[in-house]
Amino acid sequence: MIDEILRKEHLSREEIAALLSIEGEEDTRRLFQRAYAVKRGHVGTAVYFRGLIELGNVCGKDCFYCGIRRGNSSLERYMMTREEILDAAELALNWGYGSVVLQAGEDRSACFSDFIEDVIAGIGGRFGGALGVTLSLGEQDDETYRRWFAAGAHRYLLRIETSDSGLYGRFHPEDHSFERRLRCLAALKETGYQVGTGVMIGLPGQTAEHLAGDVLFFNKIDADMIGMGPYIPHSDTPMGKDCVPFSPEERLNLALRMIAVTRIVLKDVNIASTTALQALSDTGRELGLLAGANVIMPNLTGMKYRGGYRLYDGKPGIDENAAAFRERLETRIRDIGEYVGYGLRGDSPHYGKRVRGDAGRGN
Ligand code: SAH
Ligand code: SF4
Repeated sequence: MIDEILRKEHLSREEIAALLSIEGEEDTRRLFQRAYAVKRGHVGTAVYFRGLIELGNVCGKDCFYCGIRRGNSSLERYMMTREEILDAAELALNWGYGSVVLQAGEDRSACFSDFIEDVIAGIGGRFGGALGVTLSLGEQDDETYRRWFAAGAHRYLLRIETSDSGLYGRFHPEDHSFERRLRCLAALKETGYQVGTGVMIGLPGQTAEHLAGDVLFFNKIDADMIGMGPYIPHSDTPMGKDCVPFSPEERLNLALRMIAVTRIVLKDVNIASTTALQALSDTGRELGLLAGANVIMPNLTGMKYRGGYRLYDGKPGIDENAAAFRERLETRIRDIGEYVGYGLRGDSPHYGKRVRGDAGRGN
């Protein structure tokens, strides 16, 4: 049955849900094997590093799952300075990371928008275009997206969190709009960014059918990049008090199957092996690579700010800047037969095809 589905060129929602529900060791191995073959054929076995800079935890939103939501008053808010951000970017460059990701809580003020524009231009000015710039700064107006693009950013990550509008409504206050999120994704694409989206996996009430719908959603909006990870409760959030229907191990395995199925369906996109995977298992990110992911985002945020960017409990706070850590990660990547694409931007092959007009996947 699994083999039959894996041989098909186009998968239905039911078939995707069946793959996501696989349990036995042998079937899981076959799923990952298939995903890995697709990965090798479409994006190769280079792992691209993006240095993640969590530049601030001020957030105007109140997502029920997130530790830095506006309503969490037990948190000291911070914002890195322009110099601190540029210094972190310089570390990325020195270590051969081809890109940085600037991530923060959602701040829609004009002053934030100006600041980010200036930082992006600063990165371009100081490093002469040697570093790719990805943004993950939430919902903004079209004009802000355009200004940041014009300043030199070229990728944007905005997770839909769940593509089911009913579930979305359960995890967000009423004034957070699913439709606005969709409009932002469309505006980003229109502006010219490589667009990344993704979901949390293992949310209360989320089924394999919902997740199958998410994979089809990624395909429908023609995403270039995908970043997904297990949902991990944070004790100071409204959802942190609810019980989570899946154990950490089940959420990890479900997240890995989700990566594999996304690779099989979307083929030539970049897929991140995220920190949340690592939060559930020390080797979570390597497992993500073996399931079909090809991007890792080592954390470049200064150690003094790490505690302030706790999106969920148990977020790994290890110093990924330490030489020993980098060596260990590289060794582990070599051990699984892959190599790090040092100094390379590692753009999503799908984006290249999309702008040339030959990206049709047609699932
Ligand atoms: N404010 C921006 C970027 C920072 S949040 C935005 O929301 O897009 C980045 C991601 O962290 C979110 O998209 C969400 O998927 C993830 N996240 C937040 N809380 C989480 C939790 N409790 N468990 C797992 N992931 C979480
Ligand atoms: Fe803010 Fe993003 Fe967290 Fe929502 S997920 S509260 S927008 S940082």
